[in-house]
Amino acid sequence: MRAVRLYDPLDLRVEDVDPPSAPPPGFVNLKVRAAGICGSDLHNYRTGQWITRRPSVAGHEFCGTIVAVGDDVSGLHVGDTVAVDSRVCCGACPACTSGRANICEKLGFVGEVCDGGFAEEVQLPARLLLRHSPSVGARVAAMAEPLAVALHAVRRLALPRGEPVLIVGCGTIGGLCALALSRMHDGPLLLADLNKERLHLIGTVTGGAPVNLTGGAVEAALSGRRLRFAIDATGSVQAIEAALNLLAGGGFLALVGISHGRLDLDPNLLVERETGLLGCHAFTDELAEAVSLLPELSPALEQLCEPIASLDDVPATYDRLLRGESAKLKSIVEFSG
Ligand SMILES: [Zn+2]
Ligand SMILES: [Zn+2]
Repeated sequence: MRAVRLYDPLDLRVEDVDPPSAPPPGFVNLKVRAAGICGSDLHNYRTGQWITRRPSVAGHEFCGTIVAVGDDVSGLHVGDTVAVDSRVCCGACPACTSGRANICEKLGFVGEVCDGGFAEEVQLPARLLLRHSPSVGARVAAMAEPLAVALHAVRRLALPRGEPVLIVGCGTIGGLCALALSRMHDGPLLLADLNKERLHLIGTVTGGAPVNLTGGAVEAALSGRRLRFAIDATGSVQAIEAALNLLAGGGFLALVGISHGRLDLDPNLLVERETGLLGCHAFTDELAEAVSLLPELSPALEQLCEPIASLDDVPATYDRLLRGESAKLKSIVEFSG
């Protein structure tokens, strides 16, 4: 079968590999139906930061149809379409046992610590799988995982009713945060992104108002109301600094982007304004919520994804995305048949 495997930084190969064996107890085999490329896939490709085994089939945002079920698996059957929980946690550390497996001391991800979704078939532990509604299309079903990440960031921010909120960065996670907020929150939604095409798309789909981060645009858009809540989904230290400078006292900035570079921050800015910085990593129990929201969000999500014809196109798509050349939110390989 075809598979896309990461060997080393900048060494991603499309190869013919053996399909998975018959599933052992507790495991199932999936025929992958659609698999999205994540910013963290690109980060790992560029830097090798999370390479723990070589080679590894990349990809952790995917859906598949169950084709074989091992012994001791209950509630899952051949023919079910399932979402995949990307987190591979130890289940025993204090974080895991307190319901925060996303900050497990030994956390790894599908695609890095085990083979992932950029392959025709994959074998996974049944405990990582959640059933999709049969009405949801493959591309939309593949967006459950990033939607869970966005829902987690939104939950961490704990917005009071009616408060204005700014999303910095309208890539996958920022765009999905905006989409979630457009349905769940009743305050003004502001959007910023250097990619004007993508900014326009997310503005159209969510009703959010595009703003610049400089020159009083945020104040003008809010007609003098204070901005206290923002989400950074860029990981750009310049964007984070700009967002911090925009927040009025008593505010919070949620950080959900993967950063390159270091912040040069005067901590007095946080002290004097009582500003809180909230790190947001993956998700806790939001995947089931994301799966349940997909039927309702499906028309919007369809507008946000760009299909890729085959696994053979994945390496070139990585390079194109790293050059910032995408007007859509998520590039997704969809498997035919
Ligand atoms: Zn991801
Ligand atoms: Zn753990």
